[in-house]
Amino acid sequence: METEIFRLRKLQTSMDIQPASEQGQDASSHLSVTKVRVNYSLPIFDDQQKHKQSIPLNPLVGKELKFVWNGDIRCLHCNRLIKKTYNNGYCYPCFIKLAQNDLCQLRPELCHFHKKTCRDQAWAEKNCFISHTVYLSFTSGLKVGITRSHTLLSRWADQGAEMALPLLQVRQRFHSGLVEVFLKKFFYDKTYYPAMLANSFLSPQQRQQLRSEAGSTLQSQFHESLKNLKQLDAHIEETRAKISSCQLQDQGHQASKLFYSAEPMPKLHSYSYPMAPGARLPAETTHAKHAKPKFTQLSFTKTNSIAGRLLGIRAQYLLFETGILNARKFSGYCIKLLS
Ligand SMILES: [Zn+2]
Repeated sequence: METEIFRLRKLQTSMDIQPASEQGQDASSHLSVTKVRVNYSLPIFDDQQKHKQSIPLNPLVGKELKFVWNGDIRCLHCNRLIKKTYNNGYCYPCFIKLAQNDLCQLRPELCHFHKKTCRDQAWAEKNCFISHTVYLSFTSGLKVGITRSHTLLSRWADQGAEMALPLLQVRQRFHSGLVEVFLKKFFYDKTYYPAMLANSFLSPQQRQQLRSEAGSTLQSQFHESLKNLKQLDAHIEETRAKISSCQLQDQGHQASKLFYSAEPMPKLHSYSYPMAPGARLPAETTHAKHAKPKFTQLSFTKTNSIAGRLLGIRAQYLLFETGILNARKFSGYCIKLLS
């Protein structure tokens, strides 16, 4: 197979959810576990931003692939030819103009809609003033995060979560930012990606062990977080001086008014990603208990082609025998795929 030249962008995911009848229980916590299998594809868009086709990647795992870059980089939004990208695939004008590239998308607690300085109010109505979920997930370790509620399952796949569970829902993105900032007192919000990727190479027994630990940690921290969240009112009261108060006055500032559903019982989700059977950690990578794993980063800036046997995919990383390729980082690069 040889594709036409297309702009690389974030890998698309779709989820296979195991039917309830086949779902097991988490051994350590006796909670029911929703098992999610992630399918990846490369999306191809035309110059007018219309989605043309998707190339399924799961069937290519275990096979030899070659990505060839033709030397061009084009903005994902306006298609302009550029020398470097901003925020994974945008030209500088689109980076400073588009609402999705504003700092408040990364840090929702900095929402400035009420100041009438939002870059695109219609975009915000569709993307920020909708239900958001605050969650706990286990990637390289336990972390807290937020996302739009309707993208929850794909958000967990994008970050390569081993296991995850939703904590609570809020009515808008700004509120999820307030809750996340508060929960960062107790949890990390980052993933150490080499450790997360190294977990893809665990044996079935090691994986079972990891999931059992992750499941019981998530469950205990779920209950702990709900307890801690009782202090959220006081935290918001403290924060009020720093953030604009009028934003909260409209909505009611009490934590109880921010949430509209705290899950009464944790709903554990356990993820599996496509891997070639028997795939081994690349030789230069170590995963001894006290040594940090290291992967060779594959990059189109060093070479025009990246080739090798694809061992697996997790988060936004293509795991080759020769190293790892972060597909999202090279968004906007004009490439073709040969297999
Ligand atoms: Zn642009």
